[in-house]
Amino acid sequence: MSQPIVSIAGVTKTFGPFTALHETNLQLNAGEFVTLLGPSGCGKTTTLRLIGGFELATTGSIAIEGRDVTSLPPYRRPVNTVFQDYALFPHMSVEENVAYGLTAGSSVVPKADREARVRDALGLVGLTSYGSRLPGALSGGQRQRVAMARAIVKRPRVLLLDEPLSALDVKLRETMQIELKRLHRELGITFLMVTHDQGEALALSDRIVVMSQGRVVQVGAPTDLYDRPCSAYIADFIGASNLLDATFEAASGGVDVFQLSDGTRIHKARRDGESIQKLQIGSRVQLGIRPEHVHLSPIIDGNEIEARLAGNLFLGDRLRLELFPARSDRPFFVDLHRDESSRRAPELGEKVKLYVGAADIMCFAEAER
Ligand code: ATP
Repeated sequence: MSQPIVSIAGVTKTFGPFTALHETNLQLNAGEFVTLLGPSGCGKTTTLRLIGGFELATTGSIAIEGRDVTSLPPYRRPVNTVFQDYALFPHMSVEENVAYGLTAGSSVVPKADREARVRDALGLVGLTSYGSRLPGALSGGQRQRVAMARAIVKRPRVLLLDEPLSALDVKLRETMQIELKRLHRELGITFLMVTHDQGEALALSDRIVVMSQGRVVQVGAPTDLYDRPCSAYIADFIGASNLLDATFEAASGGVDVFQLSDGTRIHKARRDGESIQKLQIGSRVQLGIRPEHVHLSPIIDGNEIEARLAGNLFLGDRLRLELFPARSDRPFFVDLHRDESSRRAPELGEKVKLYVGAADIMCFAEAER
């Protein structure tokens, strides 16, 4: 395999007595779109700033294109950053803002070349006719595009994006997600983006790096993380997941049997390559079930779970039911598509039988919570 374009090896970052990043290893491949995903304070921005050179690692090393950049300042690294607040100069025109990076620091570009590059960058973000405007006369989405143009005009090998769409409203955000994906394809460079929005990470990334409390907890393609989350935390963070406490009872012929706290037996089909060996009979586990994998009508080889309906939410294309299985104080969600929900919508307080296929049960050792 070719050399990674960015390699973080054993990096720890402390701020006084607080450790924001613990001995982290991470590699990015050339041309990938990678997102750092996790809740507020988990160390996403710190990781980005360490790669950009805005923070220095306390221990460990960072290499870009095989060159050790651990102690180099930002302007000597082949990366550029799009900041959350865009950081545009309000008194400079769009063109001047974009050209700024080519006139300052170590990378001064001759004027004729500069004009062509600014034109190209503005063309790429769809702002060709806005060059003479001041940032104050632009919409939020257009300001975001200027920030992108300013970052790509220097032709970095890696573009770092710190929650670039967080200031935009939901509709514009969706449009700009498509724009980001197109830009990534056209530029062919590596994008590393920070987000706490799992939908955004799933939609845009080749790989997602999930972080929690200053550590990387799983790295994988969106489908890997969704289909095979390695802990209950990730199952719940990536997509929605219903979690049920259970005890491991027996294993036979590729099927593992668990018991819920009300005595209900749940059969789980083992997936290819999945092993249950680390579980002892009687071990406490959590079973994870995606809302879209729950049915209200019996299915072949389905597990049956009884629950009471506590509420429902109309979500446009779906109806989300909130239920409570017997002896569980955690809500259990079921998504019904519109045609399904009009046929059979239970009443509030009604006892309902839920059916889940054995292949749709995920199992997590309790310690991984
Ligand atoms: P958010 O999504 O809220 O931006 P994040 O995952 O990007 O969060 P970081 O900004 O990387 O989180 O911060 C990680 C932790 O390090 C937080 O607890 C934060 O308070 C702390 N931290 C970050 N920068 C500093 C600093 N300069 N001095 C002290 N603590 C800091």
